[in-house]
Amino acid sequence: MDAQQTKLLIVGGGPGGYVAAIRAAQLGIATTLVESDHLGGTCLNIGCIPSKALIHAADAYHQAHHFMGDSTLGIHVDKAHIDIAQTVRWKDGIVARLTGGVGALLKKHGVKVVKGQASIVDGKTVNVDLGKGDAEPTRIRCEHLLLACGSVELGLTGMPFGGKVISSRQALSPDRVPKTLLVVGAGYIGLELGLVYRKLGADVTVVEAQDRILPLYDEELTKPVANSLRKLGVQVRLGCQVQGLDSTDVGVRVLDASGRASTLAAEQVLVAIGRVPNTHGWGLEGLMLEMKGRAVKVNDQCQTSMRNVWAIGDLTGEPMLAHRAMAQGEMVAEIISGKRRHFAPAAIAAVCFTDPELVVAGQSPQEAALAGLDCIDASFPFAANGRAMTLEASDGFVRVVARRDNHLIVGWQAVGVGVSELSTAFSHSIEMGACLEDVAGTIHAHPTLGEAVQEAAMRALGHALHV
Ligand code: FAD
Ligand code: NAD
Repeated sequence: MDAQQTKLLIVGGGPGGYVAAIRAAQLGIATTLVESDHLGGTCLNIGCIPSKALIHAADAYHQAHHFMGDSTLGIHVDKAHIDIAQTVRWKDGIVARLTGGVGALLKKHGVKVVKGQASIVDGKTVNVDLGKGDAEPTRIRCEHLLLACGSVELGLTGMPFGGKVISSRQALSPDRVPKTLLVVGAGYIGLELGLVYRKLGADVTVVEAQDRILPLYDEELTKPVANSLRKLGVQVRLGCQVQGLDSTDVGVRVLDASGRASTLAAEQVLVAIGRVPNTHGWGLEGLMLEMKGRAVKVNDQCQTSMRNVWAIGDLTGEPMLAHRAMAQGEMVAEIISGKRRHFAPAAIAAVCFTDPELVVAGQSPQEAALAGLDCIDASFPFAANGRAMTLEASDGFVRVVARRDNHLIVGWQAVGVGVSELSTAFSHSIEMGACLEDVAGTIHAHPTLGEAVQEAAMRALGHALHV
């Protein structure tokens, strides 16, 4: 079989793979990218972007409803109606613009894009099934193989996806809003999308195995989210195990923390209990790479245990975040071009786009203590921030964590409306090695939510001005 040749072959065109391809091409590396589905991967097609689009639409619809019963702002709306098909078309339009943009960028930079399902032959050879029936697969040989095949959703044993049991993929393209939605998992997806469906009018119940929502975040931070779920009428059942669909297909059998069984009625069930690296079904096993649990093990340059075979993004495990995948992709391209790079971020910010939003970067007070650091921390409430009041969003706070001895900032956390945008300031200050005095001494524009960042630093130094 004739083989095409390339210096760098990337399998997977998600944020990890396509960013690696663009950077490699910028650096003059002959690059081929194989993608079996749509460019942009999970992030652009069925993840970050579509979920944030629906969050925005559901917020707007909810706000319109709010104005039917509350005219505090002097606004009154007589009737609110949503055409969900149009909402989905609008969301799909954004996805199409972004994925089209990725295709255009790859083309502009001279990346060869092959549409097909790749299967690994060996560390330098990949077959690509172009989906043309019995035609022979295309064989591509390379010097460097970059694996960027992402992750797949976990299912529940005995409750496979199909019919009323849906994953985030289907939940992001609804053809109607169900009357009742049961969400399994109070993590990122369960809460982001559970809130969307509640705001669109569904009765939503969230069932979580742990004893609190968003168990990855510290409890103080998640309290405003728990309050908001309560206010919005989302039922949350903690410490519960889902046992399967009820035999009459009415709902789901659930076992609560005390061992009591009950059936929760649900027209649809969204299973959002986590994602796992996509390591099966494309010949990866044959490379016998060292693994770390279910993920491909990599070092701080994203090298796998096989020479010139690299892996990035969700395939390499947690944190499964698009910006981490992109940063790794960019780095690998630079290393292959001869630059000296290591993946050693001081912090990778994480944002949960619930209502209110959560953002963390670096260490929480508990994590710093566990790491043996002697730290101080201080919070500034949005209740004392003018901009938050003008946004009717005075719930929540910003917290800073810094070393007691030299005031080096090691972590930021915030919860509140719109705090996702503070992640930039948080990452900058930690990555640049800022101390409390640096942030406290920087003039922050007024009136902004960012003033709470400065005030938190001032409060840690003992001289907050507005609280
Ligand atoms: P992916 O984006 O999964 O891309 C992998 C690509 O590889 C896919 O396009 C796939 O088709 C292709 N592929 C796989 N196998 C093969 C093969 N054999 N041959 C050819 N191609 C193949 N992260 C955030 O940071 N912020 C968010 O707000 C956020 N929201 C999310 C919301 C949802 C509902 C979901 C599901 C995820 C969300 N994420 C978010 C996570 C984010 O989408 C992932 O971390 C990110 O997409 C990982 O990028 P990746 O390049 O590693 O893999
Ligand atoms: P997750 O890990 O965030 O949450 C899963 C939740 O399900 C956890 O709270 C867990 O305790 C619970 N759970 C597990 N098994 C259960 C069971 N049998 N019954 C009840 N509850 C159970 O996973 P996710 O929400 O599916 O998201 C997957 C990944 O996608 C995340 O880890 C994240 O990396 C990424 N993501 C990120 C964002 C973002 O950055 N804003 C948004 C969505 C998804």
